Amino acid sequence: MVDTGHTPSRPGATGASGRVEYLYNLDVSNRVAMALRALGDRVTQVAADGAEVELGKRSRVAPSANLFVSIHHDSMQQWLIDAGRQREFAGFSLFVSTRNPKYEQSVRCARAIGEQLRAAGETPSLYHADSVVGESRPLIDGRLGVHRFDNLAVLKTAPMAGVLVEVGVIVNPDEERRLARPEVIERVARAIAQGAHACQLSQGE
Ligand SMILES: [Zn+2]
Repeated sequence: MVDTGHTPSRPGATGASGRVEYLYNLDVSNRVAMALRALGDRVTQVAADGAEVELGKRSRVAPSANLFVSIHHDSMQQWLIDAGRQREFAGFSLFVSTRNPKYEQSVRCARAIGEQLRAAGETPSLYHADSVVGESRPLIDGRLGVHRFDNLAVLKTAPMAGVLVEVGVIVNPDEERRLARPEVIERVARAIAQGAHACQLSQGE
């Protein structure tokens, strides 16, 4: 399953340009779905049609799926924006929940996606693990940008393994411009798809 984070009416973060997160999520998630299909996987997309789907019901759209990947773009705490520090934060983050029944597989898939994102030239942001500028999310793997976020609704309610991907930080104007480029969207989406595909092959369950 490929989940497009947020909805048109509640679109998540707002990029530095004013373009909303949902639209960035839509661009990447559509490309991830295409890339997974090209790899031979069956894919169900959630919320890519603009439907209002509650967080707790998103993974139930295809309950027999073996992996749920939710695509997001990142913000930062408002006081950092107010302080004009947007350009200090960039990069991807990956989240998993210990409340997901397939936690170990979730970590394996998050690591596989992180490996592919790094291979594609992306770097993890790591500020979510910082107690001062972030939210003190425990790091599982700093090199691959994998964090623990137990209470994330889409992950804790999913019956299958789940990973939430923050592709990059759109409130940073430099990073937003880069992430809007079609070739960057394509490269990042392929990396996410390759990681998601590879970790399913190696799951052995
Ligand atoms: Zn989001």
